[in-house]
Amino acid sequence: MKNFTIILLSFCLISCKDEIVPFDQETSDVINTFYSDALEKRESYELLRVLSKDIGARPSGSEGAKKAVLWSKKVMEDYGFDTVYLQEVMVPHWERGELEEAYFYNGKEKINLSILGAGGTVSTPKEGITAEVVEVASLDEVDELGRENIEGKIVFYNKAFNQRYINVGTSYGETGFQRRTGAVKAAEHGALASVFRSLSSSTYEDFPHTGGMSYKEGLDSIPHGGLGVLSSEKLSQALKENPKLKLTVKLSGTWYPDALSHNVVGLLRGEKNPEKIITVGGHLDSWDIGEGAHDDGAGCVHSIGALRLFQKQNIKPNNTIRAVMFMNEEFGLRGGLKYAEIAIKENEQHIAAIESDASGYVPRGFGFSGSDEQLEKIQDWLKYFDKNTISYFSKGGGGADIGPLHRQTGTPMFGLSIDGQKYFEMHHTAKDVFELVHARELELGTASLASLVYLIDKYGL
Ligand SMILES: [Zn+2]
Repeated sequence: MKNFTIILLSFCLISCKDEIVPFDQETSDVINTFYSDALEKRESYELLRVLSKDIGARPSGSEGAKKAVLWSKKVMEDYGFDTVYLQEVMVPHWERGELEEAYFYNGKEKINLSILGAGGTVSTPKEGITAEVVEVASLDEVDELGRENIEGKIVFYNKAFNQRYINVGTSYGETGFQRRTGAVKAAEHGALASVFRSLSSSTYEDFPHTGGMSYKEGLDSIPHGGLGVLSSEKLSQALKENPKLKLTVKLSGTWYPDALSHNVVGLLRGEKNPEKIITVGGHLDSWDIGEGAHDDGAGCVHSIGALRLFQKQNIKPNNTIRAVMFMNEEFGLRGGLKYAEIAIKENEQHIAAIESDASGYVPRGFGFSGSDEQLEKIQDWLKYFDKNTISYFSKGGGGADIGPLHRQTGTPMFGLSIDGQKYFEMHHTAKDVFELVHARELELGTASLASLVYLIDKYGL
């Protein structure tokens, strides 16, 4: 009994130091209505259908991106948001060419592999590059093998996703070097080209993956492409049987001068503190394959939808709430950088920034980058969420586009965390299409964002 009293006392010393915030029925009612409205009306899902199906792929600098800018501006204007405007931003412009092929011969049999140029790759000659292959699983291995083993060959990065992690993103983090810096490392040792195993958790499909990559000034820019996971397995197996086999790789891509593009901003003006801003956004650009439905059409319609839910319930926010469609997250982050630059130049006061760029699957929680005191405070807000959607606020996280604002101004940032089990089967592949988005799952994301914005707006951080 004595022990029990001590435990109770120490519990209170830890958790009762601030007054316990009473349950606010009004808040609960508003949040419940956000969810029920989103689930019943499915407006985000319909917006995503139009963005994915009528506009489709929208890489930076493309016609698709231009259309998406005009479309999202019009959507927010038609909804009657208080102000809708564009922020000019110059973006990098790269286009994939037609030529994309990889194969080797097993005796007389031609074995075709599925390949996709990494975003930004240079072209091979028309006839392709045919050379022996060096398979590695790390950048260090390339260094260890050195020029005598690499020069004149094709480097094949074949590090698979570690399937043991519950958080698939951990595997993405561990394998991402293959796509991002693989070409630079291979070129340092005189390779003619490099290919990499797609950053995918799939074990049964062969969709090759694309995504941002880098070249280094003063070093040859060599063609760099992703092989589907089954193709990678096939190549690896064939190399075990015949280490001298020659792989042919054909890739094409062209760099153009930077293009004029835009971030799209729609806002609901704050009644009490119009100068204070809560940003909620996603990125409007996508890769050039698939439809960018999950990445990041979902985040865009989540964000527009969050403001829409405020509007439908006739909630006048205390602070200004901005939905921002960022441009060029995928290779350059120019939109996010521009947004922060303008915020600083205009002396804007940002309370918080929230990003949804983790897909349209079921939301699970929010990552948070701010102070420990703030993180402790917001834990109390979990009582307003259904545990089947938002069940945690965890330390760390945010989003690429709001990162510059966070780093340069100290604005606390949140990232919507999503159930990621299926994410890396379609991420940056031709599989990222509207059909893979589930209406109810998507709408839960919209309502979750609206709820978080509401809580920040009402209680502050
Ligand atoms: Zn994204």
